[in-house]
Amino acid sequence: MFADLHLHTNFSDGTYSPEELVAQAARHKLSGISLTDHDTVEGCERAARACAAVNIEFITGTELTAEQNGNEIHLLGYGFDPLNPKLLAEISKFQAVRQQRIHEMVARLNELNIPLQVEAVFSLANCQSPGRPHVARALAQAGFVANLDEAFERFLKKNRPAWVPKARMSALEGMELIHQAGGVAVMAHPGLNRTDDVIPGLVRAGMDGIECFHTKHTPSMARNYLALAAKYRLLVTGGSDCHGMSKGKPLIGTMRLPYDHVEKLKAKLAERKTTLSNANQ
Ligand code: AMP
Ligand code: ZN
Ligand code: FE
Ligand code: FE
Repeated sequence: MFADLHLHTNFSDGTYSPEELVAQAARHKLSGISLTDHDTVEGCERAARACAAVNIEFITGTELTAEQNGNEIHLLGYGFDPLNPKLLAEISKFQAVRQQRIHEMVARLNELNIPLQVEAVFSLANCQSPGRPHVARALAQAGFVANLDEAFERFLKKNRPAWVPKARMSALEGMELIHQAGGVAVMAHPGLNRTDDVIPGLVRAGMDGIECFHTKHTPSMARNYLALAAKYRLLVTGGSDCHGMSKGKPLIGTMRLPYDHVEKLKAKLAERKTTLSNANQ
């Protein structure tokens, strides 16, 4: 049995709907999945329903954009209560930041004589948590660039003329938010961030796991993070980080996490729920 614990839908910058994503998971014979859209949990309810219909185990998830010591890190949250009021209130602030940032990026493009309309981006994104990929797609759709790579290279990459930094929650805040909602917090794709030096501090602050398996991790990266996970007694997770058709061919099915890691994650979640309910008594 295998799982994919890192997937995106059109509730952030993926292209599949939750139902389409689950159909793909079934096609690849996955036994469990989590939906980890950026800074939102909106797609989880529909994904859970679609999973139940095809007998796939669903674990609630999200991928929070956070920062530690000035570095951007992505924090995966798993198994939390998707209706937790504090979690929803906090992520809605960061969704507002994302929407404001779209306005700023389009204004920069307009100053560069690229007459992209902000409505074009919002109608294409059609979600609470829009990001640079939506701006890139709108640029391509309007014919201002030939493809998404060109959009990032010319305009949207860090330090390019339409790049706008994004306010991020602190990693400690993000972990606390996930924990108080009953979930576990996992560092996403550490191999892509090259910020291994922040890991010990995050572990001391209560981080539960580390994403060892990821489509952009080399085998030696995976070995390195498996060793770190053993050293710090962390959960091991993995996923494809599939964004649907937006980045060439869909990645779902290319990273298959052995199910014993899912069982350990569920055991940790059960522990957290017991701790939380004891604290509330
Ligand atoms: P944002 O959260 O708005 O900063 O956008 C981040 C998203 O943009 C991530 O999902 C990345 O995969 C995607 N992204 C970042 N850099 C590039 C790039 N150079 N080309 C294509 N996609 C990118
Ligand atoms: Zn993304
Ligand atoms: Fe990420
Ligand atoms: Fe992701």
